[in-house]
Amino acid sequence: MIGRMEESRVGDTLRRALFQRSFKQRQCSHLGSIEQTSPERFECAACLEEGTVPVHMRMCLVCGEVACCDSSPGLHARRHYEETGHPLIRSIEEGEQWVWCYPDRAYLSRAPE
Ligand SMILES: [Zn+2]
Ligand SMILES: [Zn+2]
Ligand SMILES: [Zn+2]
Repeated sequence: MIGRMEESRVGDTLRRALFQRSFKQRQCSHLGSIEQTSPERFECAACLEEGTVPVHMRMCLVCGEVACCDSSPGLHARRHYEETGHPLIRSIEEGEQWVWCYPDRAYLSRAPE
C-alpha cells in the first residue's frame, strides 16, 4: 500500500522527468564559461543575511556562488543570474549534478568535465 507521502514523491519524480525531457534537447552555448564545478560551501549567504529559508541549493558554475533555488522564497540563484549574467547553475543537492542554463533554458544531466 502506498501512503500519501509516497504518492506525492512519485508525482514529483514524474513531474521532474517530464520537465527534464522537455528541455533536454536544447543546446547550451555557454559551456565555455564554466570555471568551477564543485562548491566550497552549502549555505545561501543571501538567505542567512535576509532570514529566508532555502529549499534546495544551487551553485553558479562561473564564479562558484552558492545560492537557493527557484522554489526558495529568496530565489537567490536566479537573482545572482540576473545581477551577474552568469548563465549556468548546477544542483549541489546530495546525489544531484544536473545543470541548468538560464538564457538557453537548457537542461544538462551533468556538468561537462
Ligand atoms: Zn547556455
Ligand atoms: Zn537564498
Ligand atoms: Zn556567478
